[in-house]
Amino acid sequence: MGINNGQVTGTTKIVDHGPASDRFNFVILAEGFRQDELSLFETYTNQLINFLFSSPPFNDLKCAFNIYRINVASDETGADDPAACGGPGTTAATYFDASFCNSGIRRLLVINSQTAINLLNSEVPEWHQALVIVNSSEWGGSGGQIGVTSVATGWETIALHEMGHSAFGLVDEYPYWSGCGIDTTRDMYPGTEPGVPNATTDSNRDTIKWGDLILASTPMPTTSNPDCSQCDSQANPQPPGTVGAFEGGCYYHCGIYRPAYSCMMNDLQDFCGVCQERIRSTLVPYLEECYAPQFKPQNWFICILLTIIFAIIIIILTLPALFSGSIRCYIKGLIFRIRNCCKGNTKRCIQLK
Ligand SMILES: [Zn+2]
Repeated sequence: MGINNGQVTGTTKIVDHGPASDRFNFVILAEGFRQDELSLFETYTNQLINFLFSSPPFNDLKCAFNIYRINVASDETGADDPAACGGPGTTAATYFDASFCNSGIRRLLVINSQTAINLLNSEVPEWHQALVIVNSSEWGGSGGQIGVTSVATGWETIALHEMGHSAFGLVDEYPYWSGCGIDTTRDMYPGTEPGVPNATTDSNRDTIKWGDLILASTPMPTTSNPDCSQCDSQANPQPPGTVGAFEGGCYYHCGIYRPAYSCMMNDLQDFCGVCQERIRSTLVPYLEECYAPQFKPQNWFICILLTIIFAIIIIILTLPALFSGSIRCYIKGLIFRIRNCCKGNTKRCIQLK
């Protein structure tokens, strides 16, 4: 099954922050949707974008993105769900040949990546990251070069988790492979220091790779697993969001540390501080230097008065750094605000030359 079991019906740029050459181009593709189900795919796409742009750190990085939607109609709905992994043994004739039960694990939902890459190269040649939404309510997804997600309850978090792998090189922070209490070969991490941003064998405050994010008051290691034959079940002893070295991660109970108790790469909570830092550093090159401020239309006299007061405060606070890039940007913003006092501005993604 594959490209003979469906057809591409259109590509739409749904978030447009400028030319593809300037932005991080994210493409969302449909899999396992019949022609008459594509409006559902469009609804899912909008849900995902709303979730993405309300999740830190993406809420601050909207302007880095262009987002495209590729509508692909398949002959049949859903994905293959083999009986070998406990599924019903159904097959579906779909364009990207999606299937659960990769490597014998039901939740590992994969597609034919080469088919997706060929389509992306022809429809959006400047693509950076792609996500395939599979029309199945069974829980599943996978990373790799192309992220894949089903539409099980809470699927938007799976999608961001898979983007964490595909677009930002983040590793899973959870401490199991098949499951806590199921695994028998996951007691102790056997390798050397992993070359990923969000897992480490080093719990030394002075040398750990995310040391700049660890407060002096945070104990190191922050947690230790008292029983390496199991996942650590202790509650978080630190305030939520604390960055440190928490034992257990990268599919192992012990001998490896994750940066935070919770993370999108672990238990599908907000991305931890280390993962946010990685995402930010990847996307910042796609942000223009300087943006128009966002404000509502106002009476021009009050607007200019407020702008002058604002300008005086900025100058007082920033005299020593008057000629830095960020201050020049504020000044450009003030000029833009004066010019547009009566009109207002509902879009922040306008570059100030
Ligand atoms: Zn993380």
